[in-house]
Amino acid sequence: VNRRTIRQPVRLSGAGLLNRRRVSVVLKPGRTGQGIIFNERIKATPGRASVKEHTTCLGRGRNRVCMVEHLLAACAGLGVTDLNVESTGGELPFCDGSSLPYFSALDQAGVVELDAELTPLTDVGSCLARDKTGFLWAEPAPCLRITCIAALLGYPGPDELSLDVTPAVFAKGLAGARTCGPLAEELRVFRRRHGIGFRLVRRGGVVYPKDERMEAEPVRHKILDLIGDLWLLGRPVCADIYASFPNHKLNLAFAREMEAQ
Ligand SMILES: [Zn+2]
Repeated sequence: VNRRTIRQPVRLSGAGLLNRRRVSVVLKPGRTGQGIIFNERIKATPGRASVKEHTTCLGRGRNRVCMVEHLLAACAGLGVTDLNVESTGGELPFCDGSSLPYFSALDQAGVVELDAELTPLTDVGSCLARDKTGFLWAEPAPCLRITCIAALLGYPGPDELSLDVTPAVFAKGLAGARTCGPLAEELRVFRRRHGIGFRLVRRGGVVYPKDERMEAEPVRHKILDLIGDLWLLGRPVCADIYASFPNHKLNLAFAREMEAQ
């Protein structure tokens, strides 16, 4: 596998999830080997990541950029390793709550191979991270496979799924999986602010998209988030991963554990 970047810049804008302002992001080609760099100074690594209000953030204080996981997941899905990200407003646009807008933008900008090889992370030993309710566990394997069971209050569909994460599976079965979560705001107001064209429903205190794009969409989104957080490692992971009730904090602890191997 080679490192990859994009051919030309591409821009996305929309409402932020956290501060409710309109925010925008420009994705630009990166130099070979630089990694994914936010606002010219923050490199995407597990060590620079933190969690705020259920989103993954990079950097600190005024330089912090939140909600980076759906962009990182899109980069993982397309194998983009070297990228410059210029963000305004302290967070990336929420869009439809999936990775698809980022995936499409990168795809449109043209993903190109760079003249440098990328070594996947295979030596995962028996990495383990856990908290009060869940755990993440990895075993060495030739390809990435993720088995996930999620806590989905009120969701009537399957809450468990096992996937071989190939580029095709990512494009068709993960990129478009939308998020779900607690939401204090009125659904109508939230939809208008984010320009969301699909219906939402509140179940057991959690808000879900009403009509599913794919079966088990919420658990697919949990897998998507994990893929995004693991892309902080800067290279693909070849492992069998078992994720039981994952969340961003747990994902980051797991990424740090893998990095230390
Ligand atoms: Zn997410």
